[in-house]
Amino acid sequence: MTFTVLTLFPEMFSALLLGGIIKRAVESKCIAIETVDIRDFATNRHRTVDDRPYGGGCGMVMKPEPLARAIRHAKQKHPEARTVLLTPQGRLFDQRVARRVAQYTGLVLICGRYEGVDERVSLLVDEELSIGDYVLTGGEIAAMVVIDVVSRLIPGVLGNVRSADEESFSSGLLEYPQYTRPRSFEGAQVPDILLSGNHLAIKQWRRRVSLARTLAKRPDLLFRESLTPEDIEFLKKIHRDIEAIIERHMQAP
Ligand code: SAM
Repeated sequence: MTFTVLTLFPEMFSALLLGGIIKRAVESKCIAIETVDIRDFATNRHRTVDDRPYGGGCGMVMKPEPLARAIRHAKQKHPEARTVLLTPQGRLFDQRVARRVAQYTGLVLICGRYEGVDERVSLLVDEELSIGDYVLTGGEIAAMVVIDVVSRLIPGVLGNVRSADEESFSSGLLEYPQYTRPRSFEGAQVPDILLSGNHLAIKQWRRRVSLARTLAKRPDLLFRESLTPEDIEFLKKIHRDIEAIIERHMQAP
C-alpha cells in the first residue's frame, strides 16, 4: 500500500518515521508514505495556494487549481489509488471503512487547511472521510490517523497476524481486558481463569467479557455485530440478572 499525502506541511509526516510499527512497516516495504507539497503546484511567484471566500466571510479557502494539479500528479504516478479528501463533513472513518480502504493498493490523502478546500475539489475525489465530529486545524493529523489504522491491516505490518483480528471493533465488539505481570498490582489481581492454562475456558471468558463490556460501554455496537446463540444466551442471562436486581430493590422498603 502506498499512501500519497497532499499537504502544505510535508515535514509533519516525518513524525511517523520516528519509531514503532509504522517506521518498521516502511523499512520492510509493507507500506510506503510519500508526501506531495501542494505549494509546488502553485503557479505564481508567491506560490499562493489560498484565496478569500466568494460571498465574504472570515478566513481563507484553498484554491482548486494547485490542488487539482497535485491530485492529477499523484494519480498519474498511482493510477489505481483511491483519492480521499479529509474533511469533517466526510463519512466517519471507523474500523469497517479502514478494512475496506485497506484493500486498495494506494490511497491519495488530501489535507485541507484554513477554512477548507474549494467545494469543486470534491469533484476530483473518490470519497470524503472524517476522523470524528470535531474540527482540526488541518487534515494532516487526520491523514496520519488513516495511515496508522489502515497500515495495521496490511499483511506483514503486525508481527502477529491475529492481533488485528482480536482487537476492539475488528469483531464488532470491544476487546477483552489484557493483563501482564505482576500477578498482583496494588491489590488488584489478574483473573484466575487466565492463569488456569485452560485455553477453551479462557477463550469463552474473553468472549463473555467482550460482550459484557461492549454492552456496558458501547451498546450501539451490539446492533451491528452478528452474535452466536451462546452470545445471545449470555446476554439474556445478564438481562435476567439485572431484572432480578431491580425487582429486589423495588421490593425493598
Ligand atoms: N470550515 C471547514 C468546515 O467547517 O467543514 C473546516 C476546515 S478545517 C479548519 C481545515 C481542514 O482540516 C479541513 O479542510 C480538513 O482537511 C481538516 N479537518 C478538520 N477536521 C477534520 C476531521 N474531523 N476529519 C478529517 N479532516 C478534518
